[in-house]
Amino acid sequence: MTDLRDISVTDLFIIGGGINGCGIARDAAGRGLTVTLAEMNDLASATSSASTKLFHGGLRYLEYFEFRLVREALIERETLLRAMPHISWPMRFIIPYHEDMRFESETPTSRLLSIVMPWMKGRRPRWLIRLGLFMYDNLGGREILPGASSLQLRGSPEGAPLDDRFEKAFEYSDCWVEDSRLVVLNARDAAAHGAQVMTRTKVLSATREGNIWRVETKDTETGETREHRARMLVNAGGPWVGNLIQNTVRLNSTEGVRLVRGSHIVTRRLYDHDKCYFFQGTDGRIIFAIPYETDFTLIGTTDAEHHDPDVRPECTPEERQYLLDFANQYFKQDIGEDDIVWSYSGVRPLYDDGASSATAATRDYTLKVDANGAPVLNIFGGKITTYRRLAESAMDKIGAELGGIKDNWTAGVPLPGGDFPVDGFETQVSDLKNTYPFLSNFWARRLVRAYGTEARFILGTAETASDLGQDFGATLTEAELAWLMKQEFARTAQDVVWRRSKLGLRLSTEEIAAIDDWMVRHNSPAKAAAI
Ligand SMILES: Cc1cc2nc3c(=O)[nH]c(=O)nc-3n(C[C@H](O)[C@H](O)[C@H](O)COP(=O)(O)OP(=O)(O)OC[C@H]3O[C@@H](n4cnc5c(N)ncnc54)[C@H](O)[C@@H]3O)c2cc1C
Repeated sequence: MTDLRDISVTDLFIIGGGINGCGIARDAAGRGLTVTLAEMNDLASATSSASTKLFHGGLRYLEYFEFRLVREALIERETLLRAMPHISWPMRFIIPYHEDMRFESETPTSRLLSIVMPWMKGRRPRWLIRLGLFMYDNLGGREILPGASSLQLRGSPEGAPLDDRFEKAFEYSDCWVEDSRLVVLNARDAAAHGAQVMTRTKVLSATREGNIWRVETKDTETGETREHRARMLVNAGGPWVGNLIQNTVRLNSTEGVRLVRGSHIVTRRLYDHDKCYFFQGTDGRIIFAIPYETDFTLIGTTDAEHHDPDVRPECTPEERQYLLDFANQYFKQDIGEDDIVWSYSGVRPLYDDGASSATAATRDYTLKVDANGAPVLNIFGGKITTYRRLAESAMDKIGAELGGIKDNWTAGVPLPGGDFPVDGFETQVSDLKNTYPFLSNFWARRLVRAYGTEARFILGTAETASDLGQDFGATLTEAELAWLMKQEFARTAQDVVWRRSKLGLRLSTEEIAAIDDWMVRHNSPAKAAAI
């Protein structure tokens, strides 16, 4: 047993390397706190790599009167866009309109409308969508993104892939974000500010010893256990937050999360323009169809109860069929199983507010401190979009416990590689191609999207593609792999091809195995240093 007196005490010990854990780690480390973060798998290995990948206000939450959440998220979209113009960009969303579209019957808006306009029988009237979009445009300080407008679908590129019965549409703005890269960049910036970020490290127990936490962790690769001491604990375990409360930290609390699975399918590219579709179903739900990774279309999501965080979420055959049927209500050309090239699934850790349906459960976040001894902050719910604000709220709570905390600082400070103007992506691409003429268009765009201004650190003094070492396929080279291992905590091919990139969509099983093989060979500190 380690003598605890030998272990220095960190200010914060954070459990969970999803967006909330990494966002808090970055914010806290930047304020000068000492921070240790433990993630039992890879960064963003759970919910934070399985989202729809939108920085959005959440148009549909307006029907639930979630004005606080929508307003905060709308304001936040542009703050985030400015801080990461490489991994996030504006998108236009088309809402095709047809009078059969129905509300979800449980929303406060639909209940109100069924009283004042009973003849609508659950249908969503046009004026209500207009009103919603007006609020969406004006609730939250919009400066960069264009406002909502109406659109005639007939004869337009946006109408071309849709069934002829859709003649009119609305159009509005939100933003895309590469969710797992967002997590990794927050972790990197946390580490740059002095945080210790440990992946493949599971928290086995956390015990109060007076005013200090004693935390036991296990390296899931070597089996080695270690002890840590911290003044405050942050439980950012996402879907595991309740399990951590009950079994690991053992608090006397019944609070927990409602686990709601959401699945997506990825198909070959279904249409030629770069806008997204917001489809309303006859069941009151909505789904998106979004241009994805240049050659694909992303369709999702579903809402299904999920009971155990340890059961890996997967897109079930029923969910695949549901998404295909939903999209086929809109697209002229039916899509089927053969068009699906990939699917993924994640579990929303929603604060259990007692809502009747999974769709109706709040998407807002709740932070709860237990200070019966050394303090612990438990995080429930939250969106990718609100992670930075959630971190600031967490810092308020942490400051109240630990005292002497510096002011908010993350708004307006770019994430690694994001230090260029919000409309500067194309300039970055052409500058990169000028310096490195051997880059193809696809390659240069991919590198700037992933690494922004840091793409140059990967390419270094290369004059030809072969200067970057072996090409593993789809423009992934040894130089990039080495960067991902040294700078971005990547340990396996899965970390690289499904989280830090989506090159898994383009690489064969053999090519992915070759990446794994290379990473195993370079995974000792001595070998990694020599890369
Ligand atoms: C289908 C779907 C679509 C979504 N779409 C959007 C969207 O478009 N926009 C948006 O803003 N939000 C969206 N969200 C919500 C958003 O993805 C989540 O709110 C967010 O990712 C939750 O992050 P988290 O850090 O709390 O959880 P997670 O990302 O799950 O992180 C928790 C981490 O804790 C780790 N952990 C657990 N127990 C331990 C332990 N004992 N030791 C060490 N580590 C541990 C886990 O391994 C995990 O990595 C979506 C969610 C889903 C499921």
